[in-house]
Amino acid sequence: MSSENTASSQIQPANQGIANIAPYQTGKPIDELKRELGLDNIVKLASNENPLGCSPLATQAVRDELADVGRYPDGSGFKLKEKIVEVFDVEMSQITLGNGSNDILELVARTFVSSEDTVVYSQHAFAVYALATQAVGATGIEVPAKDFGHDLAAMAQAVRDDTRVVFLANPNNPTGTWFSETDFTAFMNTVPSRVLVVLDEAYVEYFPEYFNSLKFLEKYPNLLISRTFSKAYGLASLRVGFALASSEITDLINRVRQPFNVNSFALAAATAALGDQDFLHQTRTLNHAGMSQLEAGCAALGLSWIPSRANFLSICVSTDVERQGTKVFNDLLKLGVIVRPIAGYGMPDYIRVSIGTFTENKRFLEALSQVLQATE
Ligand SMILES: *Cc1c(COP(=O)(O)O)cnc(C)c1O
Repeated sequence: MSSENTASSQIQPANQGIANIAPYQTGKPIDELKRELGLDNIVKLASNENPLGCSPLATQAVRDELADVGRYPDGSGFKLKEKIVEVFDVEMSQITLGNGSNDILELVARTFVSSEDTVVYSQHAFAVYALATQAVGATGIEVPAKDFGHDLAAMAQAVRDDTRVVFLANPNNPTGTWFSETDFTAFMNTVPSRVLVVLDEAYVEYFPEYFNSLKFLEKYPNLLISRTFSKAYGLASLRVGFALASSEITDLINRVRQPFNVNSFALAAATAALGDQDFLHQTRTLNHAGMSQLEAGCAALGLSWIPSRANFLSICVSTDVERQGTKVFNDLLKLGVIVRPIAGYGMPDYIRVSIGTFTENKRFLEALSQVLQATE
């Protein structure tokens, strides 16, 4: 024991910024709660997963890959990129594949940001922006939100000479807030073109009619669009996402990327998923119905929520200090319902609930009603 201590005390201090990182809090796994409670019927609405699972074509594609597990995956991801070219009308040279879009966000930071630089993102924005910034020892500039959403004008003003990257989430997680093409255009026209703007569109498939980001790629060579297969495509476990940007930016990121960062199951499943627009349509339809169901349920309980254009809703559950989001989260857990407390995002009065099936949403609303009555 004592020799271990000596050994660890000799380890060099971690890189600048690492010691200050608070690890990302993931949603509580279903199996963990099952073990803790001895409950069988758990509803998990904590990680914005697709309640329909994924396209059957993707499942079949994964099965078909099983014979080849002894081989490395295609490091260039040719077939998936070919499909992305077809669906999104971009060039091969504009695509970076990532081990989830989380990988994309980190690759951007490692490629473009050093410890002398600053990175701009919004208050209540997706936690990985701050994590990726801190991991490279850079300084994050968190711009106060406006009505929980990104204040794009203030964010443009916050850009300094040493700012290399701005992270934007549209819609944002955990708030569900979004911004318009008009506000985005004004933002892009204000931010210097040497600053890389990362537009994280993890939820864009749910309400695609509000924002067409692809057309901005040609106009703004400093724009990078980040997409994921984890949410609407239902492939969260496989870890695959992609970035679209100029071929210059893409080439630079590619130098940092691990050669085999996306495994063969993920590549095959994502390619198949892009070919199943019916599944995406079903996903959207279920999400819209579930959104209405949750909104009506919250209204009936006298609760307010932040209007969302994603697959989750952040609900204000607090009326006083006694009943904060974390307490409601814990009380819901005891009833077998997993949601997400978001105090860590500076929103202690809120819980974030992912939109599930009709039955899951109903179960959540009933449990919430029970929990709120008990604390009234
Ligand atoms: C879920 C999420 C991601 C990352 O998802 P991956 O599974 O890593 O692709 C990125 N950005 C936002 C805003 C998210 O909510």
